[in-house]
Amino acid sequence: METESIQQGGKCPACQTWSQRLNGHYIRHPQDLPCVGYCVRLQLSVPRFFCDNVACHRRTFAGQFPGFVRRYGRRSERLTTQQLQIALITNGEAGSRLLQTFYMSASPDTLLRLVREVPDLQPETPRILGVDDWAKCKGQTYGTILVDLEENRVVDLFPDRTAEVLAEWLQNHPGVQIITRDRSTEYTRGINDGAPNAMQIADRWHLFLNAKQMLQRYFGRVYNRLKKLPAIEQTERAQSGEQNSKERAQIFPRTRRDYVQALSSRESRVEVYETIQQLRRAGRNIRQISRELGIARNTARIYFYSETFPERQRHQSKSSILDTYLAYLHNRVEQGCENASQLWRDIQAQGYPGTRSQVSKWLQLNRTKPSPMGPKKYMADSELKKLRQLKTEKAACDVPTIFEMVWVLIKEPAKLTDDEKVILNWVQQDPSVKKLSTEYKIVTLIVSQSKRRSVN
Ligand SMILES: [Zn+2]
Repeated sequence: METESIQQGGKCPACQTWSQRLNGHYIRHPQDLPCVGYCVRLQLSVPRFFCDNVACHRRTFAGQFPGFVRRYGRRSERLTTQQLQIALITNGEAGSRLLQTFYMSASPDTLLRLVREVPDLQPETPRILGVDDWAKCKGQTYGTILVDLEENRVVDLFPDRTAEVLAEWLQNHPGVQIITRDRSTEYTRGINDGAPNAMQIADRWHLFLNAKQMLQRYFGRVYNRLKKLPAIEQTERAQSGEQNSKERAQIFPRTRRDYVQALSSRESRVEVYETIQQLRRAGRNIRQISRELGIARNTARIYFYSETFPERQRHQSKSSILDTYLAYLHNRVEQGCENASQLWRDIQAQGYPGTRSQVSKWLQLNRTKPSPMGPKKYMADSELKKLRQLKTEKAACDVPTIFEMVWVLIKEPAKLTDDEKVILNWVQQDPSVKKLSTEYKIVTLIVSQSKRRSVN
């Protein structure tokens, strides 16, 4: 499309002197908005003027089209606006493909450049500011994120978590009244330096985390003492209607091969635990240990404060059709019958509707000697022995895990399941835990209440 400028003169960009003395014309080819399914490229005839200012270093200059096409621009402003909108909504690659179908093609790089050229908004200083970590690479590098909590909008990002940077930001943005933060001492220092008059609030999530971690430490310390508490009474467990759940979960949740895997994974966890304890005695702190061993800081913290190896939380399995026959099966194994098919036929006669393989799986973990028919290569004798020992140890001290105990103290009392109530009752036999649990209940109640209020 041919177009021509009707400018009679122009201002020299160097000295701003007005000139009408024409030097000639040249052609520019800016891309413009499409027209009925065609890409449009203009043939724009541009006048060139002489600069008559003797002191000016420019001899000639070209006429400009402010608002239509930029100096040296290869696309019209109105086309750029459209392309930018697409780029902002999609991204470089997708935007580029989409624009092609609209006859406004632009390369992905161009779109990204347009996005980068958009000037940053200068948001108002928020009244309520949230300060927290954000992960550039989870577990490795963290920066700081500032959020306007009234507008729910990110205000700024810092590449690190230092007090100085935060203090500087706060000094440059006076007027923040309330700041919520995590438990980091760096942030506390930064806020004290940068906005000493702002009210500091520890956010709810971190309060909960605090409570949980303190309880974990506490139970880690007293775990050995709690193990000696009287076992949970059978009547109580029967009342809870989950009589066999603990036993069942240990009996046959998985295949034998899974068990071997679980066993070796436990062994490696024990190894990690012992390493951490050694490092602790050597004076290393949690942060150093988690870096050195490449494990999550929370795991390091749990292992760090536990006097004994913290067992994994057992998963509660759902009830099984075999449950009713467990007593009978145990009895039969004690009498010396370790033939899965025989046992299966026996309980089938009593009405058991399940398959033989279920009985066989159960037997695999409960037989006293390796099956004469079975593929022994899957499990060495020593492994089998270790497994049994572990199982009996666990069964002998039917103690809830640290996680279970922490959980029943933290959870809202109304939401406890029957099993969890049993654990709570059991652990409260210890007077100091009893006292502690009332205190923690109050703390968690306050926190959960405040949650409701803030939702309303
Ligand atoms: Zn000039």
